Amino acid sequence: MSLIEITDVRKSFGDNEVLKGIDLDVEPGEVIAIIGKSGSGKSTLLRCINGLETISDGSISVGGAQLLDDEAHLKALRLKVGMIFQQFNLFPHLTVGGNVMLSQMVVKKTPKPAAEAMARKMLERVGLDHKFDAYPDELSGGQQQRVAIARALAMQPIALLCDEITSALDPELVAEVLAVVRELAAEGMTLLMVTHEMKFARDVCSRVVFMHQGRVHEIGPPEEVFANPRTPELKQFLGVH
Ligand code: ADP
Ligand code: MG
Repeated sequence: MSLIEITDVRKSFGDNEVLKGIDLDVEPGEVIAIIGKSGSGKSTLLRCINGLETISDGSISVGGAQLLDDEAHLKALRLKVGMIFQQFNLFPHLTVGGNVMLSQMVVKKTPKPAAEAMARKMLERVGLDHKFDAYPDELSGGQQQRVAIARALAMQPIALLCDEITSALDPELVAEVLAVVRELAAEGMTLLMVTHEMKFARDVCSRVVFMHQGRVHEIGPPEEVFANPRTPELKQFLGVH
């Protein structure tokens, strides 16, 4: 059984169907890049996998448990699957350590000492244990995004979804965030990432998914998808002719 099984998933907003039957199975430890034009449904797909959106049809199972559209299941799913966004969304009035401890304590009811120990461990993993007592506005954007990664990891997710996590960063800060992701991948974390970093996708990902108009238009290993795009849509997206 795959870690994540997405079967004929459809999602509509009103009469606008934005996911038109997505099939995708993700194996443990896979790193998948999701690419495609703006509006092709990439974020919606990740939000469905994380239970932030209900699906209109089809099924999603994570870690062997089928996702049902009731609030208890969606909540359980949000606990199992971590998500990181373009905007870091750290609480400005909390320290870095406080940010990484908060959802552990509130959502998982982890006792404070254990939450703090986990926060220190995960901050060390992203190279920021020395910033435990700093406030977010004292950090660079790259450091803030690394804190957001530590915060997601502290919930011990079985997979991590990343939605354009370097898109809001100044170019010189992108590499440090990608280095953290690369390390997570090497450690065996299952990752689904919407990204514009094609070189990164080529180097790190096991498969690339090209989405077009709410469908998986092409899928394959990066050397295939990038070197031999089959459809005119992907050729156009990659700028090859
Ligand atoms: P991408 O991430 O590939 O740019 P999105 O998944 O954000 O694409 O959006 C796909 C389509 O779904 C777009 O047409 C967008 O306007 C629409 N959409 C996304 N979220 C909502 C929402 N909450 N309500 C209505 N329409 C939405
Ligand atoms: Mg998006």
